[in-house]
Amino acid sequence: MPEAYRLRGNRVQPVSHSHICTVANNVGKAFRFNKRNKNKLDQVFESLFELGVILNVIDDSEWLFITKGHCDPSKATICVPQSIYDNACIGERDALAVMLHEMGHLFLGHRPVLHFSNEPAIKEEDAEWQADTFAEVILKNMGYQTDQLSFDFYM
Ligand SMILES: [Zn+2]
Repeated sequence: MPEAYRLRGNRVQPVSHSHICTVANNVGKAFRFNKRNKNKLDQVFESLFELGVILNVIDDSEWLFITKGHCDPSKATICVPQSIYDNACIGERDALAVMLHEMGHLFLGHRPVLHFSNEPAIKEEDAEWQADTFAEVILKNMGYQTDQLSFDFYM
């Protein structure tokens, strides 16, 4: 019997890897996450406002979360510390991964649900796995290596 998958985050509707690729590719295209503008992504992030996304950039000294980013899909709000935001804007891979991961939660429509199931959890139901996969797809499209990426501290 295969070992049960250990959920890292909320258990959500399962989606396939290929579905996440489709969503990530569409979002990447719509917001122009590409090789050419990866050093000036502030315009890209600012365009999220037009969709009603609230991007809350918090002074590092006031950042109280253990994680590097935080997303509340029910309020369409992404919170990140200033340093992560600034580095993401100039295309620093790990910071950009945080931003994309948090965007993944929004664009994949994650919301906490009461989930009663006797079935063991699977990877495809893990909100964190889904958001990581979303971020990886866009990073790869932008020409970044993603093998060494560690998402351990992102929620
Ligand atoms: Zn997450």
